[in-house]
Parts: sequence; structure tokens; C-alpha cells
Amino acid sequence: MAKSFYDILGVPKDASSEEIKKSYRKLARENHPDLHPGDKAAAERFKEISEAYDTLGDEKKRADYDNPASQAFNGFGGGGGFGGSGFSGGFSGFGGGGGGFFDDIINMFGGGGSGAQESGGDVITDITLTFEEAAFGATKEVPVTRRQSCGECSGTGAKDGKDYTKCATCGGSGVIQQVQDTLFGRMANQRSCPKCSGTGRIIKEKCTTCGGQGIIKVSTKIRLSFPAGLEDGQQVSVRGEGNSLKSGRKGDLFIHIKVLPHKYFKRDGLNLHVDYPITFIQAALGDKLLIDNLKGERVSVTIPEGTQHGTVFSIKGGGIELKHKKGDIKLKIVVEVPKNLSKEQKALLKSLDGTIKPNQYEKLKNFKI
Ligand SMILES: [Zn+2]
Ligand SMILES: [Zn+2]
Repeated sequence: MAKSFYDILGVPKDASSEEIKKSYRKLARENHPDLHPGDKAAAERFKEISEAYDTLGDEKKRADYDNPASQAFNGFGGGGGFGGSGFSGGFSGFGGGGGGFFDDIINMFGGGGSGAQESGGDVITDITLTFEEAAFGATKEVPVTRRQSCGECSGTGAKDGKDYTKCATCGGSGVIQQVQDTLFGRMANQRSCPKCSGTGRIIKEKCTTCGGQGIIKVSTKIRLSFPAGLEDGQQVSVRGEGNSLKSGRKGDLFIHIKVLPHKYFKRDGLNLHVDYPITFIQAALGDKLLIDNLKGERVSVTIPEGTQHGTVFSIKGGGIELKHKKGDIKLKIVVEVPKNLSKEQKALLKSLDGTIKPNQYEKLKNFKI
């Protein structure tokens, strides 16, 4: 088996980001190719270390790495473009597994404020779904505020995209090489050119659209199809819909899902639970109860004579449908006793009570305390 990134950096799985950074720096120094010219093993180690740190040094990548299933989910929408069915692809991972499979596949993020915020190239936003939208899936316009390359100046920051010269300090590369004598010998390192702030350009006249930044903030809405079965607090991601800057790959969009509660139904995986009040007379005599399922279809359930408080009846297949699985409606009987009885009603009940034998009450007949 390949060594884990944690093994490579020599840190425990629950290491803090500070510990990871420290260990990486130490190992990177020790294995720097400049210290081991021509040593292929050292070069390989250095590459490994850099790779490991690239993942573990980034909170999001580390979370994905720790929970590989979430990466599978991140794949959804990838490549296929957007507007409509962007989500369908990656969701094929569903269907298998027993309980809690959502949790395994989707990154769970705590908290999550409102509005859009940025973290590196990725953008986080949130969306509120009704109970039904979450259950059946829905196409929604998702508001996104993201940074992208300024079109006016093609990201150069210069007026008309032309009004700049190559930075003389770095020769236009944006980076400068520094050779330092250190404890470990000569080390070359690169750093961002301070003269041009790493852009490689000296701008004479700034682009008025982006103020010379080459980047603009754009608020837009993207249409996305959310799959059926999402739950409150889950987070889904859409590849390439985050910040889009000139350098590097496009960031991803992370959408924090908020699901509004239903007036009666509560979800538990694919099952829908409802507390169903009936009168004590219905409970005693039995009845046929009619309820509207989540789709608004009438379904019925027959409760027998002598139904007790707290009994749960299942309406098979009345719950949430996902791929080839269907949940049930779980109807929990809540027996209600009437208040404010009239004299006549009380008299009727008393005469009835006189006719019922103690052994007709199941729990009562054996109860002694
Ligand atoms: Zn420069
Ligand atoms: Zn511009």
C-alpha cells in the first residue's frame, strides 16, 4: 500500500495545521534538491513531501483526503457544463450502502454563514430549499459572487489591456530567484517579484473597470439541478464554478444546503415521520385514516380496534424516493382525550366506564405498584 500523506510528513492523522506546516518545512529543507544535486531519491522524496503538503496543508483538500467519498461527490457536474442537469453525473455513487450514505458522500460542514464568501479559489454560498424541494430535487437559481479575470483588460490590469511594459526586475516572469547561503548549504528559492507584485507587468495606465487589479467581482446566478434526497446541513460542490482567475485552475463552488422544516413531516433518511392525532374513540373503535403524502396524493391507513397511543403504522413506499429505494411514511398515533366535557358527556362516559372490565385494558390489568 502506498504511504499516506500523513506518513510522508511524519505527523499523526489528527495533527494540527501548524504541526503539519512545521514538519513539512523541516523535511523540505532536509530533502531540498539543491542540497542533494544528482540524488534522485532525494528529489523523489522532495516531490512526495511537496505533494503531501499540497493536500494536507490545505484544509479543504485535507478534508477530501481524509474522507475520499466526498471527492467522488465533488465530481458531480464536472465537465458536463451547467444549467439543468449538472448534478446528475457524480450522484451515481448513490443507491448502494445502508443508512447514513449521504453523510459518507457529501462533505458535511458545520456552521456556514449566509451570503457568499471566498476561500482561495473556491467560493462558498448557501441555498434554502423547501422540505419538498429537498425531498424530490429541484432546479434552483443559486446566487454566486465570485472573482474573475477582468474582460476589459484581459486580466492585465492595464488600460485597454495594452498599456503596460514588461517588468524589468523579473523580466516579466513575476518571480525572482534568490540564492541564499544557509545552514544546509546553498539554497535557491523563488519569490514573488516585489516590483510588479508578481504580475510581471508595470502598468502605465490602469484599467478603469478593475482599477488595475485585473480581477473583478461578479455577482451572478447559476441554474443548478439539486438531486432528490438532500438534507439540511449538507454541502454540495460544483467543480469549476468558483473564482476564475487567469492563473491556475478555476475554483469550485460549495453550496451549503438549508432545508426548511415541514409542518408535519420529519425526515429520517428516506422515511417520513408524522405524529398523527386521533380521538380516544377512534382508537377504541378503529378507523381508516386518510393522509396527503408529500406529493399531495391521498393515501390511507386502517387502524384496528383498540389501537394504543404511540403505535406506529407504516405506509410502505410513501416516503422519499431515491434511485431505486423508497422510504415509508411512519405514522405515530397520538391518542387525544377531549377537554371541557359537558355534564351529559361525563354521565355517558361514566356509564360506559362501568361496563368495561379491568382486563379489557391491556397494561392496566397487570399493573401493580
Ligand atoms: Zn516583476
Ligand atoms: Zn481590467
